[in-house]
This record gives sequence, C-alpha cells and structure tokens, in this order.
Amino acid sequence: MSSCRLLPPLEKVFAFNCPLLLVMAVDQVAALEAYGIPVATINGTTPLPERKAIIEDLLSGHPKTRLLYVTPEFCCTETFRRNLIRIHAQGELNRVAIDEAHCISEWGHDFRPAYKELSWFRKTFTSPLVPITALTATATPKVRDDVVKLLGLDRTSIKWFHTPSARPNIHYEVRYIEGIEEDDDEEEKRVQDLLQWLDFVRNRHHTRHNRDSCSTDTNVKPPPISGIVYVPLRSVADELARILSCSGRDIHAIAYHAGLPASERKRIQNMWASKDTTADDMNQQNGAPRPAFSIVVATNAFGMGIDNPHVRFVVHWTPPRSFEGLVQESGRAGRDGRAAVSIIYYNRNERDRVFERLKKDENPHGGRAGNRYAPQSANSKARSLQARVESFGKVIAFCEATNRCRHQIIKEFSGDLELENIMSSQTTDQASCSSSSSSSPCDFACDVCKYGPEKISRQKKDMLKFTAQLEAAVMAAMLPGYESFWSF
Ligand SMILES: [Zn+2]
Repeated sequence: MSSCRLLPPLEKVFAFNCPLLLVMAVDQVAALEAYGIPVATINGTTPLPERKAIIEDLLSGHPKTRLLYVTPEFCCTETFRRNLIRIHAQGELNRVAIDEAHCISEWGHDFRPAYKELSWFRKTFTSPLVPITALTATATPKVRDDVVKLLGLDRTSIKWFHTPSARPNIHYEVRYIEGIEEDDDEEEKRVQDLLQWLDFVRNRHHTRHNRDSCSTDTNVKPPPISGIVYVPLRSVADELARILSCSGRDIHAIAYHAGLPASERKRIQNMWASKDTTADDMNQQNGAPRPAFSIVVATNAFGMGIDNPHVRFVVHWTPPRSFEGLVQESGRAGRDGRAAVSIIYYNRNERDRVFERLKKDENPHGGRAGNRYAPQSANSKARSLQARVESFGKVIAFCEATNRCRHQIIKEFSGDLELENIMSSQTTDQASCSSSSSSSPCDFACDVCKYGPEKISRQKKDMLKFTAQLEAAVMAAMLPGYESFWSF
C-alpha cells in the first residue's frame, strides 16, 4: 500500500513510522517529492548535518517539512521523543501513521519488539489529541484486536477502512510438483514446468497483441511481460535468474537479494519502479532487442513499497513462510486491475524445509536496534514463534486444499468477513470510503474453480510419495488445531 494514497492535506507535520525504511522510503519519498510534498527521513544512514537540519526545521515553529519518515526503533529514542513533544506543543504535529501495524502484535507473523513501544504516542499526545492511523495489508482478527489494544486506541471512535485480501483479478494457482529424493531433479522439474508455462503465456500474449494492435506487421514485438519469482535463498535467486536468462526463451531475469551491493539493489528498484516494464529500458540502452519477459528473481523483501502496477505474475518457488506473506506478495501482481496470476509451487519436501528454516529463525526482525530499545522476553519469543508456525499452517492448508475456491480460503483466513461486519455497522459515509466488498465471486479465477476439484486432487495425488497414513495425518493438520501436527 502506498502512503501517497493515504495522505490527508499536509497542513502540519505528519510522522510516518516505516518498518523497512531503506527499502520503502526510497520509493515513497521519491514519489512524494514528485508531487511537491516536502518530505524527510531520518535513519541510521542519514548524515549528521542533514539530521540536524531536519530537526532544526521541525523545531522552528513553522517547519517546511510536512512529512517525516522514521523507524519504530528511532521512535524509542529519548532525544526524538523530546523533540516530538516540542513539535506537538507548538501545534505542528498533525497525525501519526504506523505502517505495517501488524508488527505490533506478538500474534502477528512478523512481530517486532520496537513496535510495542509505539503506544507512547497515544499516551503522550492527548491534548490536543493527535489522530493515529494504523495501516496493514494483512492482519487476522486476533492481530487487529491486539493492535487496537496495544496502541491504546479508543474503540468507540475507530474508523475502519478495508480492501479485500483476495483480489478478483488475480488467478490463484497451486502447482504440485512431485517431491522426490534428489533435490536436483525436484528443482529441474519446477524449472521445466515454469518454462512451459512461460511459453504458453508468451504465445497467448503475442497472439492478443497482434490481434489488438491491428497491425499488418506481425513481427512487432509487444512490451515485455513483467513477473516476480520469490525464492527462499540468495543462492537460489542467483542460480534461477541465470537458468531463466540462459534458457533461450527470450527471458531477461535478474536476481535481487540482500547480498547484492546497495547500488545494484537501488538500480534494480529504480528500474522496476520505472513507468514501463523494467529490464526493457536497460536492454534498449544496450541496443538489445526487447525481451519477451522481464523477471526479477528475489528473496521476499523485494517489491515492498515499490509501486509497479504492471506486474503480470508472481511465482512462489517454495511455499511462502507466512500466510500474510502469501497474500501480500501475490498481491504485487495486477495492481493495474488487469488479469494477473499467482502461482505457488508446493511439495511436502519443500514444506518441511521451509518449516525447519522457520524454527531456526527465532526473530527475523529483532535485530540489534530492536533488542537495544525493546528487549524481547522468552515468553514473548515463544508467542512470536507460535504465531509464525500458525501462519505457516495456513499456507499449508491453502496449498493442500483441493476442493475449495482459493479466493474463499484467503477471505476466511484473512478475517475479511469480520471486517465486513464491522464496516457495515459504520455510517454510510464512512463505509463509502472503503473499496468494494470482498464478496466478489471467483469467476474461475483459481485452479480449483477453473479445472474442478477432481483434477486438482489428482494432481496432488501424483505428487504424493507417501503412504495413506501420512496423508491422513496431513489432512488432520488442516483441521482446527492443525498446529499440534507441527510439534517442536
Ligand atoms: Zn475459485
């Protein structure tokens, strides 16, 4: 979700808490500057003179800066809090927004200890009252309840805004690739399956393009088709990008992950956020012809806060680590409202590997800054891990299901029904601010509705190499209480 769509008129300073500042703020700040909004960020890499100049401006009583991006960790510092109290006393603090607000809850899949400290805003800015906006793309009813409680928000005056989690223009599909013992074979099967699917997409795209362009020259190449492939490891990103680029299928694929130099990551982000499809520009500069596909093979941070509305497909190379991640990452396809595809490759070997990685990764965001300002107790860590395991359990249930519409599963697991009830109890004016209801039908936009449960069930059975006994155990894992299956 882009902050640009959310901003009220910026008459006063607007403090925006941003989780992955370096990734998100680069794009958001640039977009806001393009609209002529005076915006600033303070983070660990801001040079001291620049930081001083921003603070001096904010404390001047008539600041030029209208919007300030900071991290939750920075909000924990005494100096920043003192400065913010002065800005508030001068009547210049208009609103506080907390992005990725689900991180405040230990029941969220992505808990960050420093987020809990943001309750300080509600306690401190009471007179005059500063409104607080909490934003999240993915939060279960339990997490939403926790966010409201922990931020100290007044339930009687909360206004809810909601867009459906499952997007009607996205075709959701799970691909069951047989799990066999040799990793290389398993990987090779996925590669071949993806290449075949890309061939199909390219042929259809070319046919439509030639038909719609009314051109007599059938050699005119359409713009590249953009897609993201999410992979679990940096090494997989490098290797898969190489394989796709060398496949002879006219694919331009680049790897994106935290191991790349900052300048290279910035270059890829800028390219991806550019108006037209990404690698096209780069290829044109080199004098190379347009590729048929422009693909970024990335670890899961890529795409957050980078607004490219023309992504036509998102592929998860392995099951995503969290259900919220599944919804959010697949939702990066088709933001222009046109048809787009989400594919998840699933087999039980990968399921077990992801689960092992999940258990090892105690607190993915509780880095040094988080521990310094907001240490996490053993109980809190245990709750966080439990929340992540539960969230991954939903991913498994989503992938294992062969007889339910995937849109319906997303709607149920995301708690959209509860939110719709809350929305309907608001006044008509408030309700009209929200987007369309999530009750839109699937209209064959998932594999189960399109091909039928029998076919999908057959595909899944082909994947299974296990006994009926294990199958029964996995089915039991999909029922309420499935987390007990994942004992650790
Ligand atoms: Zn469906």
